[in-house]
Amino acid sequence: MYQTSYHRASSVNEAVTMLSGTSEGKYVSGGMTLIATMKQRLASPSDLVDLRHIPDITGIKVEARRVTIGAATTHAEVAASSALRAVCPAICTLAGVIGDPHVRHMGTIGGSVANNDPAADYPAAMLALDARIVTDKREIPADDFFTGLFETALDDGELITALRFEAPDKAAYTKFRNPASRYAMTGVFVAKGAGGVRVAVTGAGADGVFRHSGMEQALSANWSPAAISGVTVDPSGLMADLHATAEYRANLVKVMAKRAVAEAG
Ligand SMILES: Cc1cc2nc3c(=O)[nH]c(=O)nc-3n(C[C@H](O)[C@H](O)[C@H](O)COP(=O)(O)OP(=O)(O)OC[C@H]3O[C@@H](n4cnc5c(N)ncnc54)[C@H](O)[C@@H]3O)c2cc1C
Repeated sequence: MYQTSYHRASSVNEAVTMLSGTSEGKYVSGGMTLIATMKQRLASPSDLVDLRHIPDITGIKVEARRVTIGAATTHAEVAASSALRAVCPAICTLAGVIGDPHVRHMGTIGGSVANNDPAADYPAAMLALDARIVTDKREIPADDFFTGLFETALDDGELITALRFEAPDKAAYTKFRNPASRYAMTGVFVAKGAGGVRVAVTGAGADGVFRHSGMEQALSANWSPAAISGVTVDPSGLMADLHATAEYRANLVKVMAKRAVAEAG
């Protein structure tokens, strides 16, 4: 047995102060990963600081094509947002295929990005959309944020407050689901916007989410599923586990990317 104290924060400052006063405390948002990890005794935080009751970090704002999603916004809220769907339907589609209804109504975008599970969906969107991860201290470009398996650029106690990006001209996300967990065995998010073409892959990389420069170059020259046929996906940096070999995942990356480009139109 171990003891955990629960704290409910009502502002970002209060949450940061509460956590700094703990010995080994953790933020909890949807709890969909953290509570399960605690039940398995893989984590035993001294304190939990609950972020779900901080109004400043919930909700979705769309101003022209500038999108800001509060960190404590649930996957279900992202999936259902008509304002967001009007400018970037791909991220609504992505949120709608995360886990199951229970996970979507509890899990949050900030929790998913902070956790950086190598098979999670949002990290691919953040990378392909060239998003900024906004924290209580700074803004971190997605390219610098995801640093490895379950690793991010967040400092100890740093709190994600929002995710921000410019809606692209075209984007889509397709994933091959693990039929048991519904996590991505491979998921590909493609986006074409003012900054060019970006292709991000989740569920396949041995070091977690990554961009595929070969596909980005091919699609910059010719935005069509056919352009991907000539691109090589090297299996050597990919994950191999009981679900799929690295070679199988390499093939899935191409198949998912082609489908995503076709869907983006
Ligand atoms: C059965 C099941 C199926 C799932 N399927 C999928 C799937 O298909 N695709 C997918 O992407 N995910 C899936 N998930 C994970 C789900 O999306 C979780 O919601 C997500 O991983 C974590 O979000 P959370 O809000 O629950 O975070 P929590 O579990 O509360 O926290 C996770 C971690 O993030 C930290 N944290 C939380 N919020 C912040 C913040 N604002 N700033 C800094 N740190 C923070 C916490 O301290 C903790 O370390 C699944 C989960 C389950 C249980």
